[in-house]
Amino acid sequence: MARIEFYDGTSALAHEAQVSVYNGKLIIRANGQAYTIEDQDISPTLSTPNGRRFINLSNNMALEFHDNADAERLLDSLNVPHLRQMRWFDRHYRTWPFIAGALMTFVGLVALLYFFALPVVAERIADRMPSHLLDDMSQEALTQMEDNETLQPSKLSKKRQLALLTQFNALKKPDTKVPFKLHFYSAPDIGPNAFALPSGDVVLLDELVNLTTSDDQTMGVLSHELGHVAHRHTMRGIIQNSIVSFAVASWLGDYGSTLVNLGASSLFSEKYSRDFERDADNYAIKMMRLNSISPAVLADFFVIMEQKHETKKTDASSKANPPSKDSSKTSKSNFNLGDLFANHPPTTERIDTLRKAATQ
Ligand SMILES: [Zn+2]
Repeated sequence: MARIEFYDGTSALAHEAQVSVYNGKLIIRANGQAYTIEDQDISPTLSTPNGRRFINLSNNMALEFHDNADAERLLDSLNVPHLRQMRWFDRHYRTWPFIAGALMTFVGLVALLYFFALPVVAERIADRMPSHLLDDMSQEALTQMEDNETLQPSKLSKKRQLALLTQFNALKKPDTKVPFKLHFYSAPDIGPNAFALPSGDVVLLDELVNLTTSDDQTMGVLSHELGHVAHRHTMRGIIQNSIVSFAVASWLGDYGSTLVNLGASSLFSEKYSRDFERDADNYAIKMMRLNSISPAVLADFFVIMEQKHETKKTDASSKANPPSKDSSKTSKSNFNLGDLFANHPPTTERIDTLRKAATQ
């Protein structure tokens, strides 16, 4: 038997010890004394490949085994019931099936947190954000985009702006309490789009208005944006992304930040943005029906947008240098916008839903 040392709990000094089992009880002889240890006072540490093994006892007493096999033999002969699970775990926790199982459980838990807990938490936080904070954030984002000239003054005539605003104000809303303030801008870098800020400020770009073939299409787009405001999508998206960035960065340190910067998190947020778009489309359907506008007009506009998107892609690939600014990114602002085409063009699924709604 290799060396076993005993700590008596009163000093850091190790005493050479002999251990034995008598009547099922652990007996330790050390420093000229004998100690009888009760079963419930025995708590071994997990074994490590090359490290020493400890068995902690009551009153800060402990045994230190230079050879793990000695500790195992002693625990075997004791057969203390409450240690069975722990010893099973000790024998398995360094085996590959166990590590793989633990890893899968961990990934499963993270996925559960990500897909189920995170949206609920983000929604709760967004609902509790004071409106003045939302106003400040939104104003800040608008100012930033004006300053870096992403957003430029609208070239639509005041009369045209007023006509669209009047038409939208006259529409019945599914929920009258949703804040809404319309801003007209031109943004050649962004292209045809519209987006909602957390405060309820909605930006409508000239490029989009000029692409529509009827004002009902513009009303459909604005109803969709009002849906983003009603569901607080922009704020929820910002909160979700912040939580994910924070969690990844704090777990993985600098590597995590690099992953976040490389867009690893946007891979996942794609799912959320799809959910948000679907919710906003459903809100638009509801609102258009309230006003006897066919949801098909929004589907028509999505088709126009898709064609425009395709033309742009073809243009880009035929040029030697692809355009540096992507219409899907308003990266200059660092702001997640609940825009009409979050990270992807409208899918056939969205168009189908709108067309189906038009026939019902
Ligand atoms: Zn949208």
